[in-house]
Formats: sequence, C-alpha cells, structure tokens
Amino acid sequence: MGMRAMVQNALRFDDVFVPDTHVLGQPGAGMEVARDAMAFARLGIGALCLGGMKRCAQLMLRYASRREVAGGRLLEHPVTLARLDDLTGAIGALEALVRALGAHDERGGAHGGLPQEACMACKCVASELLWEAADMLMQLLGGRGYLEPNLAPLLMRDARVMRILEGPTEALYVHLGAGAPDGACLTFAADVLDAPDLVRQVRAALQEAGAACPSYAAGELCAWTLLVAACGDGPAAPWARRRWSALLAQLKQGGAPAA
Ligand SMILES: Cc1cc2nc3c(=O)[nH]c(=O)nc-3n(C[C@H](O)[C@H](O)[C@H](O)COP(=O)(O)OP(=O)(O)OC[C@H]3O[C@@H](n4cnc5c(N)ncnc54)[C@H](O)[C@@H]3O)c2cc1C
Repeated sequence: MGMRAMVQNALRFDDVFVPDTHVLGQPGAGMEVARDAMAFARLGIGALCLGGMKRCAQLMLRYASRREVAGGRLLEHPVTLARLDDLTGAIGALEALVRALGAHDERGGAHGGLPQEACMACKCVASELLWEAADMLMQLLGGRGYLEPNLAPLLMRDARVMRILEGPTEALYVHLGAGAPDGACLTFAADVLDAPDLVRQVRAALQEAGAACPSYAAGELCAWTLLVAACGDGPAAPWARRRWSALLAQLKQGGAPAA
C-alpha cells in the first residue's frame, strides 16, 4: 500500500555464529535490545506523525482559503473552522508530548530514564491523531483530495501504516492497560510531568472499575493522561482535556473501547 521499498519478510537464523564483539546486549536477553530499539522508534513515530499533521493543516488551510463553495469561501464555513481548530489543538498537544519526552531523554532521563510505556503511549496517540488528520484533509479537499497528484492519498497511505508499525494500537493499549493503574506511564505522568492530581483521578477510576474495565480502554486512558500531563497549562490543554474527559467518562460507564 505504501513504503514499497521496505520488503516484508520473515528472517530466520539457524546455527549462525556470532563473534563476541558483535553481540548486542547479553546473550539470551535479545528481547531487551529489541524493546529498547522499539521504544525510540516509537518516540520517532510520534515526531513523524506530528510533522504529518502539520502538513495536513497546511494543505487544509491552503485549499480552504482558495476554494469558493455555496455560501462563500470554504475557510469561512463553521465546519471547516471547527476541524481546523480541532487539528490545531491536536498538533499543540502532540507537540507538547513529543517535546516533553525528548527533553526528558536528553536530560539523561532522571527518575529511571524514559520508560518504554511512555514511548508506546506517544506512538499510539500520535498515529491515531495523524490518521484523523489525514482523513480530515481528504474530506476537506473533496474530489480533489481523492486524486493522486494532490498529496492527500500519499499522506493517507503513509499515515495508515503508523497505526500498525512498531506494534498496533490495540496491542499496545492492551499492554499499557494491563500494567495500570501502577504502570510506568501513569507514574511518569505524575512524577516527571508533574501531574499527580490528574493521575490520582485516573487511578481512582481504574481501581473503581476493577476487572470490569477492558485493558484496551484502560491503556487508552493512560496514554491520554500522559498527553494531558504533557500539555500542562499550555494552549493545547483545553483540547486535550476535553478528549481525555470523554474517555474517563466512558470508562466510568463501563469502559467500552472506542475503536
Ligand atoms: C511497511 C512495514 C514495515 C515493517 N517493518 C518492520 C521492521 O522493520 N521490523 C519488524 O520487526 N517489523 C516490521 N513490520 C511489522 C510490523 O511491526 C507488524 O506488522 C506490526 O507490529 C503488527 O504485527 P502483525 O502484523 O503480526 O499483526 P498481528 O499481531 O497479526 O495483529 C493483527 C491485528 O490484531 C489486533 N491485535 C493484535 N494484538 C492484539 C492484542 N493484544 N489485543 C487486541 N488486538 C490485537 C490489531 O488490530 C492488529 O493490527 C513492518 C510492517 C510494515 C507494514
């Protein structure tokens, strides 16, 4: 569908000699090396999705400011403005998260380093938001969006794989949810991103829901809690809190997964 230079194959090693100088990590602990590599790839995907979302916003703004439809310029229609507003909020929130995680890692990752769970959360939220952005772009550009030369199809194909690559959203949310409420994602949000009150609310809701809460829903809420924590009091905070509150309410009503 895209990334055509990246051929998909299973690779098997059988009786391969590896000299000591070529061993990564400890023998028998290769999964740790893989997890470490995936954590950074997931943070990278977060940054990449952020760039993709900014490109969507740019293309949406350009088209809407030039296109006349019934009732006036497309950019002046409330539905267009609402979507651009939504996308602007998403970009601001994701930028806050990617920067917070990157800055923590660059500072040497106090509090035990950058947890793999934080990178997982970032990757899931980012890829889902990019997909929403690509869909908004396609819709705003109408029939022109569907045409190959107008970039939206390319962006949409590239965005689509991000929800699958380096672990699909479902598997990662289930993993995050299984570790909640004491997992590293919430602990990082409370201690490093300085949002103990927010995390207390989420932990209380998760504890109350108990076994009735599907891991997927718990994981999604943990990831969004990290996003809200990263926004702090910044401009994207109201947007992130709105979506987070809806997830929290949904979890309290039985936690049916949104996806
Ligand atoms: C272009 C491309 C490049 C890739 N590059 C690499 C690479 O360089 N290295 C590498 O190792 N891999 C690579 N992959 C593989 C990729 O990481 C996997 O395809 C991805 O992690 C999903 O695994 P899977 O395909 O085995 O899906 P499956 O495990 O079969 O999952 C299928 C679907 O089931 C659902 N699902 C899975 N687990 C759960 C769960 N626990 N709970 C609920 N639902 C679940 C999800 O919706 C998922 O999409 C690449 C894939 C693509 C498309």
